[in-house]
Order: sequence, then structure tokens, then C-alpha cells
Amino acid sequence: MPYKKFEEYNIQVTDDVKNRYKNIIKDLGEDTKRDGLLKTPERAAKAMQFLTQGYHQDPVDILKSAMFKESYNEMVIVKDIELYSLCEHHILPFFGKVHIAYIPNGQIVGLSKLPRVVDVFARRLQVQERLTEQILDCINGTLKPQGVAVVIEASHMCMMMRGVQKQNSITTTSGFRGQFEKIETRNEFLKLIGK
Ligand SMILES: [Zn+2]
Repeated sequence: MPYKKFEEYNIQVTDDVKNRYKNIIKDLGEDTKRDGLLKTPERAAKAMQFLTQGYHQDPVDILKSAMFKESYNEMVIVKDIELYSLCEHHILPFFGKVHIAYIPNGQIVGLSKLPRVVDVFARRLQVQERLTEQILDCINGTLKPQGVAVVIEASHMCMMMRGVQKQNSITTTSGFRGQFEKIETRNEFLKLIGK
């Protein structure tokens, strides 16, 4: 996906968050007047707004903008969708891959819309379990396919950098609706994504 510049910074929010970051940096023991840190509170305020822009976006609208009548009724898979999100317990990143499959029921969706739906939900404070369910329910409720499956594999910085410091552990979550609740359909999908 092409990088789209995020320009809609709310001036008031940027200002409030900037001032709070300044205090946080000071509380952590740093000198906020140090050259390298002068613009850091503002940069951090903007970065956080970018990383949480999903609160202001509607994933249903995104799907509805590219739904087409089509008789194709085999499994459609988009795998290895890049994921970057923030864990809501520590506000630290978790990142990995999302694999999505659906079986159409009279209509298909533009393939680029599925990664966009992932981004809308990922750019909020999240837990991986809820993120999985939200992507699943959004596609299921909007496209109304015969079935939908979502698998997420992610590494959590809150586990890697602190806490148990397990650098190589990957957390996998999955959810299945409709036809994918049948074991053979589910297994076909898992085989196709190499699981
Ligand atoms: Zn965490």
C-alpha cells in the first residue's frame, strides 16, 4: 500500500498531548531543554495521533466503497498483511502478519480494502484477541459472505523488551465464521497459508 501522509492533526489535541509529553519526559529524568529533545514532545504527539487515527475511520464505509456483485464462490485469501498496532496495557507496539479468507456469497470486495480494514482497527489501542474479532465481525457483517477466517501472528514489544523478555515468542489468534467453522474448510485455509 502506498504511504499516505497523515495531515489532519488537530491543533488543540496536538498542543495538549505535547505539553503532557513534555512533563512525562521530565518526570522520567530527562532535560526537556536538551537540543535533541526540544521538538520531541510535538513529534511524539503527532506520532501518537497517527498511530491511533483508526478511531476516526469507519471500516464499514471502506468495505462498502468497493463491493461488487460476482458469482465466484470459492475461497479468497489475502495473506501476510503487515500489522502494526499498540497494546492497550502498555502502549507499546505489537506487530506481525494478518491472514484473511472469505467465501463470497454473491458479492466480492476489492482486495486492497482488506488491509485497510486491518489498519483501521490496528491503529487504535488494542489487544490482539479483540483485533482479531473486530476484523472478523466487520467483514462478516458487511460483506455477508458464506464464511470468513482471520489469523493473526504477532510479536509484542511489552513481552520482548520488558516483563518476561521473551524475544522469539509469537502470539497466534484466530477466528472463524460460517463455512470456516467446518473443520475441512478451516484446514484447507490453514494449509493454504502454510500453517
Ligand atoms: Zn502489553
